Amino acid sequence: MALPSNILIVGGGVFGLSTALSLSKRHPTSTITIIESSPTIPNPHGSSVDTSRIVRADYANKAYSKLAAEAIDLWRTTDWGRNGRYTQNGLLLVYPSDSASAKEYAHKSYANVRAIEGDNVTFLPTQTDVLSVVPAYGSTLDVAGGYVNWGSGWSDAAATLRYAKERLDAEGKVKFRSGNVERVLYAAAAGSGKSKVTGVVLADGSVVEADLVVLATGAWSSRLVDLRGRAVATGQAIAYMRISDEEQRELENLPTILNFATGIFVIPPRGNLLKIARHAFGYRNPVVVPVPGDGDRTETMEVSLPEQGVPVPLEGQEAFRVALRQLLPRFAEREFVDTRVCWYTDTPQGDFIVSYHPDHEGLFLATGGSGHAYKFFPVIGDKIVDALEGTLDPELSEMWTWSKAPVSDGEDFDGDGSRSGERRAILKDELAKTKKALRSSVL
Ligand SMILES: Cc1cc2nc3c(=O)[nH]c(=O)nc-3n(C[C@H](O)[C@H](O)[C@H](O)COP(=O)(O)OP(=O)(O)OC[C@H]3O[C@@H](n4cnc5c(N)ncnc54)[C@H](O)[C@@H]3O)c2cc1C
Repeated sequence: MALPSNILIVGGGVFGLSTALSLSKRHPTSTITIIESSPTIPNPHGSSVDTSRIVRADYANKAYSKLAAEAIDLWRTTDWGRNGRYTQNGLLLVYPSDSASAKEYAHKSYANVRAIEGDNVTFLPTQTDVLSVVPAYGSTLDVAGGYVNWGSGWSDAAATLRYAKERLDAEGKVKFRSGNVERVLYAAAAGSGKSKVTGVVLADGSVVEADLVVLATGAWSSRLVDLRGRAVATGQAIAYMRISDEEQRELENLPTILNFATGIFVIPPRGNLLKIARHAFGYRNPVVVPVPGDGDRTETMEVSLPEQGVPVPLEGQEAFRVALRQLLPRFAEREFVDTRVCWYTDTPQGDFIVSYHPDHEGLFLATGGSGHAYKFFPVIGDKIVDALEGTLDPELSEMWTWSKAPVSDGEDFDGDGSRSGERRAILKDELAKTKKALRSSVL
């Protein structure tokens, strides 16, 4: 299907860059521009950028397993995974004795990846079996069982974003522009009763015209389109600690360990830095903003939006200490050299939103990463362009379409069943508790 000739992508993360790579190949005569608010791509505060991201086909949902297998093939066999961008160290998925849901997720996920990876995947029904795979973790490892998939790995996320940007620069077909999009512009569309996108307005007041606007704005999307009941920004905890050369050698070739009951995972270290992170319901950061759309923007709404540059609250740091006591006790009291709150764009079932907006002609969303989109970097752009053209595989289209009913106000997003921790914790409250605790520890 032909697409309009003037296409604007807002956002230069995984969704935006991958879309640009596919569009420039499949629609070479279109004018394609990416607008990114960060002065640099990669944006160091973007969700796509970190030392590492897990690349796994280990999903309880078959459609994501299949899509991840497609992506992993490209991570393994093409430039995407070269020069240290992909390391296939395996993934050890474990569950404790007191979490039936984590055990169930592990069993479903095992069945899905076993069908894809065959003997690369081994079930580990006891703690002793788990320890046989990660002896460095020691006999205090507090898990009941799990499985290991040697076909999974991890990717250097900042390096891969740079790689994608360099590919686009070398091809020279996509224009880049730095700017913060303040709102989308609309005009009445003849005959349909809908409004039609005409471009965007930047924070400095300048207008960029376009016939098709793809919002790949991740956790910031709620500023530009009303996503209440469809997507919410949730802050997730990451911490790093310095380790010695000897510890680096001991841990660097182990599989990534992911405990689906706590959501906590440890990726093998690089450069003497050990990363621990939590895949949880996350913190919310409520902010009041104008309701976006084609109206007069006098109405306001409260939504969660990213807060940049804040440390992980004490609650999160303590959760890491508890997890380290279960997994790697000798690191449990070591200082964190850095902590960071990184933002998911969570959707009710953890599905992406890759869809035209039903009320605005020419407005398309490619977002809703839900904490697991990174691994699809080599393939997600093609799926997005399929959706733009109306040819997306019906199974994916069904999962990613806008027409799914929104979750009603106050109802929780359950995700794909792999989340842990408190629901709806407020970031500012947790930071205030942290400040108070630190003050009283000084007195
Ligand atoms: C802590 C953490 C761990 C994760 N772990 C994994 C993992 O192990 N495996 C995995 O597969 N996935 C993982 N993910 C998920 C994955 O990283 C995300 O799903 C994916 O990176 C989202 O990409 P994005 O393009 O939507 O977001 P982003 O990278 O945030 O890109 C959005 C871009 O839009 C720009 N933007 C926003 N608003 C505007 C505006 N108004 N004007 C101009 N520009 C704008 C932003 O500056 C930003 O650069 C993790 C995510 C986090 C936060």
